[in-house]
Amino acid sequence: ADPIRELRHERQRRDHAMGGAAERYYAHPPQIERGWNTLLIDTEGRAYLDLVNNVTAIGHAHPRLADAVGRQLNLLNTNSRFLYEAFADFSDKLLAHAPDPSLDTVIPVNSGSEAVDLAIRLAQVATGRTAVIATREAYHGWTMASDAVSTSAFDNPAALASRPDWVHLVDAPNAYRGPFRGADAGVRYAAQVAEVAAQLSDADRGPAAFICETVLGNAGGVIPPEGYLAGAYDAVRAAGGLVIADEVQVGYGRLGEAFFGATMQGVVPDIIAVAKAAGNAYPVGAVITKRWIVDAMRREGMFFSSAGGAPASAVAGSVVLDVIREEQLQENARVVGAHLSEALSRLATRHALIGPVHGRGLYLGVELIRDHDERTPAVEETAWICERLLDHGIIMQATSERQNVLKVKPPMTLTIAEADVFVDALDRTLRELDEKRGSTMTS
Ligand code: PMP
Repeated sequence: ADPIRELRHERQRRDHAMGGAAERYYAHPPQIERGWNTLLIDTEGRAYLDLVNNVTAIGHAHPRLADAVGRQLNLLNTNSRFLYEAFADFSDKLLAHAPDPSLDTVIPVNSGSEAVDLAIRLAQVATGRTAVIATREAYHGWTMASDAVSTSAFDNPAALASRPDWVHLVDAPNAYRGPFRGADAGVRYAAQVAEVAAQLSDADRGPAAFICETVLGNAGGVIPPEGYLAGAYDAVRAAGGLVIADEVQVGYGRLGEAFFGATMQGVVPDIIAVAKAAGNAYPVGAVITKRWIVDAMRREGMFFSSAGGAPASAVAGSVVLDVIREEQLQENARVVGAHLSEALSRLATRHALIGPVHGRGLYLGVELIRDHDERTPAVEETAWICERLLDHGIIMQATSERQNVLKVKPPMTLTIAEADVFVDALDRTLRELDEKRGSTMTS
């Protein structure tokens, strides 16, 4: 039987049972009971190598984190009405990684959605404006404001029609798929941002902010083309707006080269949103920004989050940063990521289905395509490969607007040997797909 057709049938049955909007991953999801470093272990005792979990950046069940948070929970955990030493610690350690000393203030929240929501609110209050320029094909969260700029529509134009009128879209700066693909792609995508900013200014609705990930996480680690962020930031600032960097997925050392994607790209945002890795799956998020922007909030009320920056969250945030530094996980992401990216590119020479390998460090995206001229997304093949990799003990999932990119964003503790296990399993899976399709054609 054609393995792709079989999977299509499974998925249709699941859609029927669950409704369309809830995100789901496997036809037969394993019941995961335990995590350890890069491994997830199910109720049958089977271990899987977790290649997708960028939330648990320092590895699953890190004993130092469990001990520190446990100790704090025994001592005190309450709202953030007081100043806790652990929060001052977390804040200092986080600011030490900021791309520039002008970013001198941390506001604690509980998730990426909240961080993005607050970032947008801060920009609107500080500028006295409402318009926000966002890129297409992005995901920034589920709360009202973060959802409004979450333009990822999975090719469903109706999803974009319901954006609030303060959201203004520009193309995703993707030089592999978007309208601009040449050496001047960065300049041309940035010119779109300048054009939208100018139109808004002409209409007396100048932009409050431009929001973009510093590396396009939802697209599978696509790095914006040379000069894009710098050009877009200049244009928005010239129009009186602020710039927000969403580093929720790609920040925190994962890119290897730099702690933040903004630093890697040589730009300094006015507001940075972090979460996910910040608490290693304990709910910790934060906005990093400039004091005058936070002070502007006073004009229109105040900010308070009950659990944001609470003692246990602050301890979690602080310990995660200690572990990243002491275990040299950013350096590990650089070294193992470079090895993995090279191995995947070598694999591409033997499997035509593999297109470009996007990303940097331990945030990589393997784009699967049916042909190299049209770049037709190999959507169903990608889904089948993820299912089959699960049989081979690898957790791997699809991302991007077209769901044809394997997202590689494991705990930053991944070893070279584990990276090789994944590459071998992918090689074997691609050969299996060829063989099965070959036999289907001849039977
Ligand atoms: N921004 C980006 C880039 C994200 O990937 C996500 C989560 N996938 C969020 C924001 C929202 O974070 P959270 O799920 O913690 O609310």
